Amino acid sequence: MAHFETQAIRAGAQPSNAAGHSSPIHLTSSFTFDSAEQARALFAEEQEGQIYSRYANPNTSSLLEKVCLAEGTEDGMVTASGMAAMFGSIAALLSQGDHILASRSLFGSTHQLLTRVFPRWGITSTYGDIADYKNWAALLKPTTKMLFLETPSNPGLELIDLEWAGNFAREHGLILVVDNCFATPYLQQPAKWGAHLVTHSATKFIDGQGRVLGGLILGSKELIEQVRFFARHTGPSISPFNAWILDKSMETLAVRMDRHCENALKIARHFEGHAKINRVNYPFLESHPQYAVAVKQMRHGGGIVTLDLKEGAAAAAAFIDRLKMISFTANLGDARSIVTHPASTTHSKLSPEERERVQITPGLIRLSVGLEHVDDIIADIEQAL
Ligand SMILES: *Cc1c(COP(=O)(O)O)cnc(C)c1O
Repeated sequence: MAHFETQAIRAGAQPSNAAGHSSPIHLTSSFTFDSAEQARALFAEEQEGQIYSRYANPNTSSLLEKVCLAEGTEDGMVTASGMAAMFGSIAALLSQGDHILASRSLFGSTHQLLTRVFPRWGITSTYGDIADYKNWAALLKPTTKMLFLETPSNPGLELIDLEWAGNFAREHGLILVVDNCFATPYLQQPAKWGAHLVTHSATKFIDGQGRVLGGLILGSKELIEQVRFFARHTGPSISPFNAWILDKSMETLAVRMDRHCENALKIARHFEGHAKINRVNYPFLESHPQYAVAVKQMRHGGGIVTLDLKEGAAAAAAFIDRLKMISFTANLGDARSIVTHPASTTHSKLSPEERERVQITPGLIRLSVGLEHVDDIIADIEQAL
């Protein structure tokens, strides 16, 4: 089997008849049939092929071939956004009366899905604190069908031992879903530890340049069959253009992630112990409480570092306003370094107690470390501090 980097570049995309080396964008809603018999066979799913871009498109198929090899999954579905993937992974598999056990630290919109959208359809959930995951068996109900996790968590960078999660899910007959957006398949492959579905916001590090939205749901043929049925008939399909961008992005994921992680570790080490900072958090710092889990299941520590400023919210606001190069925007996983202040933006709808439980302090700055020269990123942070 070829290496990660080779598969991510060579799998999928076929050159067009015009012999262009880069694959063409198939900006078409439907595909013509060769014959009445071929159309019949395609619809009967006796034959594989393209029918209609709500189902699949050569650009989504090429992207899927790459990410399935990267994650070690059999099959998958590409969606228009990460949230379409999170929604689809749950809606395709669960029914009224089913219950989800989820880690408390979840992406904001995933939290809204679990607490405000799915309960209207009789699908309920319970949160478990990550620090306490060894005791989660007490949170299970007879109706619990799914374990939904994010590791590393956003923005607390708490980790869940995926080996533990795989065993727990198997023991209790749960479908294990892992949102692998922060780690990307280059750093961590949850399916290897027993995750049944791996979901992504491809908008972040997979795109890597803040251009397009996209999502992925990956897993076994059997589960993806159900996801595909759901997606085919509800329509969360991605634009072929966006799928083409993401397919090309996969070619450079490994080199980009290596640099994101190298810069992030240097920055974390540089600012650890700084007079104005309470705590620097990064999975590959020896001071991270779950450093051992991080090195067991991740290739490197990822592209996100958090800095907890001693003087709280006012210091965080002043710090952000003084930055000269680093962008202030809600995205992450871009070539350009980005900061956010979770307490006043992405997580402002949580109560102060809820924020504290997921380690979002008033002075917390989330830094998505970009691909600029690390000395320039450090210099900008220094002057702003
Ligand atoms: C951004 C993000 C999402 C949502 O993805 P979109 O592409 O913005 O819809 C889901 N999970 C995590 C962890 C994210 O960072």
